[in-house]
Amino acid sequence: METEAEHRAGADFVREIIERDLREGTHQQVVTRFPPEPNGYLHIGHAKAICVDFGLAKEYGGRCHLRMDDTNPETESTEFVESIMGDVRWLGFDWGAHLYYASDYFEHIYGYAVELVEAGKAYVCHLSEADLRAYRGTVTEPGRPSPYRDRSVAENLRLLEQMRAGAFEDGACVLRAKIDMASSNMKMRDPLLYRIRKAHHHRTGDKWCIYPMYDFAHCLSDAIEGVTHSLCTLEFDNNRELYDWLIDNTSVPARPHQYEFARLNVTGLITSKRRLKQLVEEGHVEGWDDPRLPTLAGVRRRGYPPEALRNFVADVGLGKTQSLVEVERLEHHVREVLNREAPRAMVVVDPIELVIEDLADGDEVRVELPRLPADPSAGSRALALTRAVYIERDDFAVVPPPKFKRLTPGSVVRLRGAGAVRCTGYDLAADGSVARVRCARVDDAEARGAATLHWVSASAGLPVTVRLYGPLFLVDEPTDLSQLNPSSLQTVTGWGEPSLAEDAPGVRYQFERVGYFCSDAKLSRADHLVFNRIVALR
Ligand code: ATP
Ligand code: MG
Repeated sequence: METEAEHRAGADFVREIIERDLREGTHQQVVTRFPPEPNGYLHIGHAKAICVDFGLAKEYGGRCHLRMDDTNPETESTEFVESIMGDVRWLGFDWGAHLYYASDYFEHIYGYAVELVEAGKAYVCHLSEADLRAYRGTVTEPGRPSPYRDRSVAENLRLLEQMRAGAFEDGACVLRAKIDMASSNMKMRDPLLYRIRKAHHHRTGDKWCIYPMYDFAHCLSDAIEGVTHSLCTLEFDNNRELYDWLIDNTSVPARPHQYEFARLNVTGLITSKRRLKQLVEEGHVEGWDDPRLPTLAGVRRRGYPPEALRNFVADVGLGKTQSLVEVERLEHHVREVLNREAPRAMVVVDPIELVIEDLADGDEVRVELPRLPADPSAGSRALALTRAVYIERDDFAVVPPPKFKRLTPGSVVRLRGAGAVRCTGYDLAADGSVARVRCARVDDAEARGAATLHWVSASAGLPVTVRLYGPLFLVDEPTDLSQLNPSSLQTVTGWGEPSLAEDAPGVRYQFERVGYFCSDAKLSRADHLVFNRIVALR
């Protein structure tokens, strides 16, 4: 068995690199960045990148920048920028004064493009999109040089200026780096640096009609900010050569390095903004913050504690091996935090009436229960046992299955905090279902070995809406919408103990014997509480 420390060292090649760089004085301070594109809401995969980027900076006494990678005006918006900031803060991280936008560097980036052109390392190319693709070759065949590849520096400079000035229509031409059309790395075959898009940008307005490509803007932005360790996911492996080439061939003020780690993939959860967007836009869910979605807005609304996500990411580790993590592992961390912290409450989600025949209407037996059994300092809640209470329908059986320890004619159970009762009978409704169960209080000694049921007073309790979630998809690796779970949301009306009304919204509870729940930030009202099931009790 490897020790925890060995496991960490093995999986954690990034920490090794950072420690080496600090030890050898390559860098005095670690500077990382989290660079989301504001074209959608962040998801649980991004939580890994956030914890890694912000977490490592914090761990090594450095800093992490939040940089909006906003180089694509058509798909980006301020709504997304704001949601990203909210999600990063919610996860527990702080960028301090270091909030940046790639669009703030457009002038600098353009300057570096001019440098490349002046050095004969970039050219304006008029090939159509289809021709660009055809000329690029394939993995097995080298590409062919563009007929525009050997234009003079002066001509390229003039054309680039005209591109910027809006002289050409969208798609009429692009700026390309002049590298190597025969490179085995397709990214190095004269990659695009700038394209024309006459679109309004959410920050720069109509100032620009040419926009830098991701590969061009990203490394330059890192360098402008003095990023030391530029961490990203493995699919950018092939981009690193271009990243280095651009850093080497421009006069940027710093030399960041890119390192790649494995993406976080979780069974049954979609971690692609494009596909999440489709679910939202086609109305398959209630919005980006639908509690069934693995967006950070969704899991927050559902009630996942941010600490659980941080623990989960730390547990999964920072390796280079692509893997699919079981969603149960995420849920384990959610339960682990909630089991410690969530105050207890009683809510009956599928109620059936239980009449305690030896209590009269209006009688109240006062009951006091701890909010957190393990922590008396968390205080207590007052309840009243009344003649009519609700219990879960499946806690009563006319004909009990083998080993049934709950209520059945003649059997004894405990009611949480309120002593023991013996079932004295039941009434049927017109349709033959059980309408009401009857019982009488008995001495606690008669309840040995009996189950303890949760209950809510019918007269003092509150009707509450309870949203029970199943998986959004029925398969581990969803590929299309036909795999959507048609019953991923089940809404029921239950009965909750009165103490629920006293808490501020957002408190996460353990509803005894039912699961962990959180009031819904959007739908819950003081006069009608709505709860989301965060996770069942195992
Ligand atoms: P998507 O594929 O969902 O559109 P993206 O990578 O295009 O995601 P960005 O906004 O560009 O989204 O991502 C910002 C950062 O988050 C990048 O550094 C990216 O590598 C990282 N990231 C995205 N998805 C994951 C994931 N599943 N696991 C870990 N990191 C991720
Ligand atoms: Mg991206």
